Amino acid sequence: MAEKKQIGIFSFSCDEGCSIYLIEIFNEKLVPWLEKVDLRYFLSVRDKSEFDHLDVALVEGVISTEKELKEIKEIREKTDILIAMGSCAITSQPSGQRNNFNEEQTNEIKDHLEKYHYLPKTLAVKEAVKIDDEVMGCPIDEKTFIETFEKYL
Ligand code: SF4
Repeated sequence: MAEKKQIGIFSFSCDEGCSIYLIEIFNEKLVPWLEKVDLRYFLSVRDKSEFDHLDVALVEGVISTEKELKEIKEIREKTDILIAMGSCAITSQPSGQRNNFNEEQTNEIKDHLEKYHYLPKTLAVKEAVKIDDEVMGCPIDEKTFIETFEKYL
């Protein structure tokens, strides 16, 4: 029997709507998928998990802080196939709405951004690192997600 694929699911700055929707998809698909995958990292489900290598990483949200930028780069280094999940990860919107602030609004939050080491602009996951595939939607489209994910199992 082939080795199970090591899978990680990661949330960056967002409402976590895509990963919540993913749990809905798991209700139907997780049992057959578990024959092929080992879910190594899913912060919404498991409190603590470590990994050296992943076959597939599913990533939602935007990269908003220096710490998040470092984390997504580390995930990229350890992952064969990185799939951006949802509109935020692909376009930075809607979670990156501060990118659309005018000068006055940006000045109002400037001190806060500096104090907490936020990036000047939020980045889509797709802008921060190279991605291998993407599933659009807000939240993700179920059919497209299943088709995309199953390509890599
Ligand atoms: S794409 Fe939509 S549902 Fe998914 S994390 Fe962003 S705001 Fe939430």
